[in-house]
Amino acid sequence: MNVDVAIVGAGAGGLTLATILGRAGLRVLMIDSRKEIHPAGRGELIQPLGLEVLEELGLLKPLYSLPHFRNTEFVFLDGTGRPLMRSRYDLGDDRFPFAVSLEPHHMDRMLLERLEELSTVDVRFGASYAEHHAAGEGIELWWTEGDRMCQAHASVLVGDDGRRSAVRSDAGITGLVETYRDSYLSWSFDCPEDATDSVKSPTGRYFIGPGKIFFLFAVSPARRFFLYMLAPGDRRKLEEKGLPAFLRELDEWVPGLEDVLRRTGLEKIEDIPEMSVMKVDLDSWSCGQVVLIGDAAHAMNPHVAQGRNQAMEDARVLGETLVREMASGPAGILRAIGEYESRRKPRTIELHRLADEMTWIWNSANPVIVAMREKVFRGMERTPSLSRKIVRTISGLWFEPLTPLDKIKAFWAG
Ligand SMILES: Cc1cc2nc3c(=O)[nH]c(=O)nc-3n(C[C@H](O)[C@H](O)[C@H](O)COP(=O)(O)OP(=O)(O)OC[C@H]3O[C@@H](n4cnc5c(N)ncnc54)[C@H](O)[C@@H]3O)c2cc1C
Repeated sequence: MNVDVAIVGAGAGGLTLATILGRAGLRVLMIDSRKEIHPAGRGELIQPLGLEVLEELGLLKPLYSLPHFRNTEFVFLDGTGRPLMRSRYDLGDDRFPFAVSLEPHHMDRMLLERLEELSTVDVRFGASYAEHHAAGEGIELWWTEGDRMCQAHASVLVGDDGRRSAVRSDAGITGLVETYRDSYLSWSFDCPEDATDSVKSPTGRYFIGPGKIFFLFAVSPARRFFLYMLAPGDRRKLEEKGLPAFLRELDEWVPGLEDVLRRTGLEKIEDIPEMSVMKVDLDSWSCGQVVLIGDAAHAMNPHVAQGRNQAMEDARVLGETLVREMASGPAGILRAIGEYESRRKPRTIELHRLADEMTWIWNSANPVIVAMREKVFRGMERTPSLSRKIVRTISGLWFEPLTPLDKIKAFWAG
């Protein structure tokens, strides 16, 4: 089989890239080791950046027809539930004064359905990457489907195979690949009609206490999702205390949540999946005609709520440069990859820096840092120009983090 582009991994980045390339008439093979797209067990935010990419592809309408919720704001509260700050999307002056939250498998299935309409795109699930080699003017890709070994020749190989990317290691692309200290418990659940107003409220809430983070948001009018931070050793402690103690803790933040979670099938702590969080920060995103996108290139801490959005933006830029240069042969392809990397890498380096800073401050249990953090949050609430910077940065369309002077201003205002 001969294709223009082979993509390993049908994540948000791979699906978006296959859509762009397929619509331009390029021959695309996309493989994914999963048997099908299944629920991730958590929700995700599609920021204005991701919405813009979907709009360009004419896919906003299908997105809005999926179960989702439009978040016009998020509320930050301290560990006792006292409000600290509201982050309002309308302050960002973007075309999208909201972020969409949803369960990501809905969006991925919608992208896949549209891909199936493109005759030049071949998508194979249950197909696991095995290896690749340089061959002639391109790349030879090997993968397994059941007990069959399959092979294709591609002009470009794209690794969208996630933070533990095998394409990356086989291509010899090196850099920092590490797991953050704290992980998260994550759970999605139905919200019954008779739940308390606090549980039913779809407003996204971040409770940030000393060494504690609890994040609850709506993924549709009828479904909710939470993340609960686990410091090292916390899971064992929670398991020892048992589910009732854990649910009581959540109930203090969101009255009525204990009852809802009991009724929606949660029986023991061990039922709640734990999600680790990784950072991938590479020296380069490519090696010859092999190039990485998404988490394979730059997995980042979810505090910036950007991973999926940045993967889609990678696809937009790589798609544009490949479509333009593909006809010029290997030299054009290398130009396309070089341009992609130089346009995309600086933003992800900035986001890594911001995510690390947020992680250090938000996840801290140190009383001095906690007191300063709360003062800065209150100060940002009182200073609209600073709230605006935060919301524009989180939208993914801009990058306007607080300067040291801004932080001092927020501290004094708080
Ligand atoms: C707790 C948590 C919360 C998050 N919240 C948000 C959020 O609110 N907003 C946001 O934008 N991002 C969020 N993210 C990040 C987001 O999930 C990722 O950045 C995004 O999914 C990355 O997409 P991707 O295209 O890189 O591919 P991935 O989603 O990583 O997909 C990789 C694909 O490659 C396939 N694959 C892997 N190995 C092979 C192989 N050997 N052969 C074939 N296929 C293979 C896998 O099956 C998978 O389908 C969050 C992440 C976490 C952990």
